[in-house]
Amino acid sequence: MIAEMRKGATTAQVNAVVRRAKSLGLSVQLNLGTEKTVVAMLGSDTGKLSADIFAVLPGVESVTRIMKPYKLASREFKAEDSLVSINGIEFGGRRIVVMAGPCAVESEEQLMRAVKAVKDSGASIVRGGVFKPRTSPFSFQGLEKAGLELLALVRQRFSIPVVTEVVDPHDVDEVSKYVDILQVGARNMQNFALLTEIGKSRRPVLLKRGFSCTVAEWLTAADYLLSEGNDQVILCERGIRTFEDSTRFSLDVCSIPVVKKFSHLPIVVDPSHAAGHYSFVPAIAKAAVAAGADGLLIEVHPNPKQALMDGLQSLTPSDFARLMKELRLVAKSVGRYI
Ligand code: PEP
Ligand code: MN
Repeated sequence: MIAEMRKGATTAQVNAVVRRAKSLGLSVQLNLGTEKTVVAMLGSDTGKLSADIFAVLPGVESVTRIMKPYKLASREFKAEDSLVSINGIEFGGRRIVVMAGPCAVESEEQLMRAVKAVKDSGASIVRGGVFKPRTSPFSFQGLEKAGLELLALVRQRFSIPVVTEVVDPHDVDEVSKYVDILQVGARNMQNFALLTEIGKSRRPVLLKRGFSCTVAEWLTAADYLLSEGNDQVILCERGIRTFEDSTRFSLDVCSIPVVKKFSHLPIVVDPSHAAGHYSFVPAIAKAAVAAGADGLLIEVHPNPKQALMDGLQSLTPSDFARLMKELRLVAKSVGRYI
């Protein structure tokens, strides 16, 4: 941590900062510049200390952290890429893992038709929401337990792994019995009770980026999972809020190389929630693969016009089949495969 003293700060004020740092077990280096004094405070535990401890002291202008707020998710902690394997399907290697299916499980017929279509086109994991945390409490909230049973049926009939969102920390154990990957939705990225519970469960987890969160906040949320001993963490970029309103959210394609640089965790992209419209999904999906994403999460509905939710951003089975062909070419051009 670095404390920059105000111009004209007194020696007594500088000494007070030094004394406070030493009392907390930190070692101190002083840079007595002609204009300003800078106090560098070093120690293995500075991450646990609030910057405010120093910012409130008289004569201090600003306090900056040198260390990143996240630790276990960082490349400093683990230099090599982490691989997350679900029934032999590996995230973070050369393969691009495509997860596809409906936004919400609506009925057995709808789900089975969607699963058959996405599997036939080459998706390797099925998505389907049964707990839907909607912006309005009056919107369809998902089939819950009945939906979980349908997802279990998918695993059994199609031998394909399934991902679904869990919203309540008390449901983690129960949902884990039915699915292979637990999804943390954008609205729950900083639900620390939920993250802690999923961390303890050690189940593979897809951590979506909160739409108002920075990459650093996202990686710090991943630390909650990792610090409980769960190293099966997959990040999912799904678009953030910006001033642009021609798409539902703005896909932060930059976060892909940024995450790859600063973290060892695999990252996938959800083009559907970013786009908000089926016609934009293929271009965004291809851009994500070209930019280095390790996988995709795509909404596909057998009949989007009849969908109970997110029909406008859902691909039809034939649109999805076409996209998969194009994605294979993009993957090949960046030395990867689907
Ligand atoms: C979803 O994937 O079904 C979903 C609700 O996404 P998000 O949390 O990104 O809005
Ligand atoms: Mn959706």
